[in-house]
Amino acid sequence: MRKSKASKIRTRIEYLRTVIETECSATTCRESGKCRHEGEKQAARHALGRLLEKLKGAAENDRDEHAEAWAKIYARGYDEYGNTYSMGNKYRSGQSMKDRAAGIRADIKMARAAGKAPLVEEGSGLMSQALETYRFDPIGEAPAQIKFRVKIGRGYGSIEINVDNIPQDWGWVAGEVTEYEGETYTRWHRSQALKDLEAELKSVGEAYNADFGSNLSTDCFAQAFFVFVESDDPATLARRAEYEQRHRKSRASRD
Ligand SMILES: [Zn+2]
Repeated sequence: MRKSKASKIRTRIEYLRTVIETECSATTCRESGKCRHEGEKQAARHALGRLLEKLKGAAENDRDEHAEAWAKIYARGYDEYGNTYSMGNKYRSGQSMKDRAAGIRADIKMARAAGKAPLVEEGSGLMSQALETYRFDPIGEAPAQIKFRVKIGRGYGSIEINVDNIPQDWGWVAGEVTEYEGETYTRWHRSQALKDLEAELKSVGEAYNADFGSNLSTDCFAQAFFVFVESDDPATLARRAEYEQRHRKSRASRD
């Protein structure tokens, strides 16, 4: 996408629609007849599809006091023909694991880029609700310092999405546990925001999955691959840091 466009874009939906609708003007793409940016457009369609699904759900929920506001934002997601961007659960079955991982990476990258534009317009009277917009776009709303890694698991049967560099006070809630001998230790629980982020990443990954006739009643599972989302709690991170330090020291003493 051309950078100059972004400055005029007011909302996340507009950003995604611009990526989707702007025709590629790159000379190399026109000359070859094959646009290199198709993956970017595809990722924007997925991001908009996910966003609209969630907004639609909120708009349809009568108990939500903001339902009308979300419905208005939702309506903006339609193109001029009244089409919405939906995403099917099996939309890219039959891909290689490499392409699936690349697609998931592109989806996350697009969600992060679009997340820089506000979901609600400034001065629309909706800014007071901006705090709860995270639930519509957990990937776009996650703290900027978070890093995502997508890799193919051993044996090519799974894809792992790692969430790294999570701010502790955003992602984790400490719980004191007292053992029967009176000793206490801290058990870390995921915050709601981290749970939402992990669920969204899982659904992004599962969208690339294909099901070749799993049947719950016969316990037959025939999925193409598994999607794992991993985030390490502060205790695990501390243990790993300690281990690495010891490892470094023992290596240094050997030299
Ligand atoms: Zn292009």
